Amino acid sequence: MDFEFSVPVIVVGGGAAGAVAALSARLAGAEVLLVERDASARGTTAMSQGLMCAAGTRAQATAGIDDDADTLFADIMAKTRGAADPVIARAVADASGPAADWLCDVLGYPLVLDTGARAAYGHSRQRLHGWLHHGGADMVQFLHAKLAETGVDVLMPARLVELVGDGDRIDGIVVERPDGSREAIGCGALILASGGFAANHEQVAAHMPEAAAARHNGHEGNMGDGIWLGAQAGAALGDMGSYQGYAMLADPHGITVPPGVLVEGGIIVNRLGQRFTNEVTDIAGMVHPVLAQPDGVAWVLLDGRIAQLNDYIPETRALQASGAVRSAGDAAALAAMIGADAAVLAATLADAHAAAGAGRADAQGRDWAAAQPPAWPVLAIRVCGAIYHTQGGLQIDGSARVLRRDGGRFANLLACGGAARGVSGPSWWGYLPAMGLGSAISMGRIAGLSAAAITAG
Ligand SMILES: Cc1cc2nc3c(=O)[nH]c(=O)nc-3n(C[C@H](O)[C@H](O)[C@H](O)COP(=O)(O)OP(=O)(O)OC[C@H]3O[C@@H](n4cnc5c(N)ncnc54)[C@H](O)[C@@H]3O)c2cc1C
Repeated sequence: MDFEFSVPVIVVGGGAAGAVAALSARLAGAEVLLVERDASARGTTAMSQGLMCAAGTRAQATAGIDDDADTLFADIMAKTRGAADPVIARAVADASGPAADWLCDVLGYPLVLDTGARAAYGHSRQRLHGWLHHGGADMVQFLHAKLAETGVDVLMPARLVELVGDGDRIDGIVVERPDGSREAIGCGALILASGGFAANHEQVAAHMPEAAAARHNGHEGNMGDGIWLGAQAGAALGDMGSYQGYAMLADPHGITVPPGVLVEGGIIVNRLGQRFTNEVTDIAGMVHPVLAQPDGVAWVLLDGRIAQLNDYIPETRALQASGAVRSAGDAAALAAMIGADAAVLAATLADAHAAAGAGRADAQGRDWAAAQPPAWPVLAIRVCGAIYHTQGGLQIDGSARVLRRDGGRFANLLACGGAARGVSGPSWWGYLPAMGLGSAISMGRIAGLSAAAITAG
């Protein structure tokens, strides 16, 4: 195929993984072209809270948090019951701290340790980092400003529709413009960072049938294009049944209720007023108990103290502003709001308070040593379960190089972020908080460095 032009490194996808990969390759000396299907890059990253988990960062050291790559690696393997790919897990754990520090020191991204987010849901250390009072949309905007500043060319809207190559080499790509015209562009190395496939309902039903009926609350461009095109070229795939679900999408407002609401003492009840899960064990896997409730809805109960502790998070304020948070002075008012029996609701809250007071676990097995259940007046948010982002994809090695089904390795094809196999194990129960961006940014940086090294060689 004749290419209209060629560039050393092409990156497909302008979310966190792609933007970081492009910046990393560019700062390592490569000429880079980033290709994005939308007219303005947002991706799932722009919908996110913009939090990344990272271990051994300078921000942690300053806060006196004793953490390192080995501890994060152990947490990943424990959370995934040993089923995460150990090579990728090791690479993410090792790269996360340096990647977070690089964002700050080299790019000037104002990343800080989220001291309001406790070590929870599988993280044994306080290691969530973010831009205080800002979310994923600001992260994307910041990274794209850096792309412009550092001289990375960006082609959008242009959708990757074909990989051109033979055997273990990718010679270039074909992109399609919104008017249907196509361009062939040659490359020395290709990084697929086109996200996961949570918006592809057919593939979700095929790989994760238990989530097929769940609402999708991710980016509609996450059709898995890079994954299927990579597979057509001979790439191996891994953990295709893995995903980040979420149990607390405000319904119908579509705003994420921050996990800290539960960690600080919030509980979840169904429309009968009953609890049905231990709210602090699995932030992503909790989607399934919620989907199984009558009408597939639930109510998060909190109080003013818990809301205050989460007030620094933009979503908490958005929930307030949208009217999603409603207040009830007593069990009768709360029951009328939910449509439950007042006596059942009162007993549910009383049980949690009794357990907390006695220093014992409650009927759901929740240990209240570190938090207090909601007190009156109680605040309530109606929520539903949703699928946010898939975690399986192109099988990569520790340098983000894509592996082939025949056991070999592509010479110049790399992948990162949602397009690549992550570190969440094979299913819905292995996701650690903020690992979506944690792995996208860590492996994105590695992919960029690898691509620069391949093309320099
Ligand atoms: C509501 C919500 C909140 C979340 N909060 C967090 C959080 O706080 N912390 C965390 O770690 N994770 C969070 N996640 C998950 C996190 O957002 C993702 O794991 C992460 O953004 C993935 O980054 P990415 O760059 O791989 O994908 P994306 O950000 O989705 O970027 C992929 C890009 O590729 C483009 N693209 C797709 N196909 C093509 C094609 N054929 N050609 C060209 N371009 C293409 C898309 O348009 C998109 O811009 C959240 C997810 C959701 C939905």
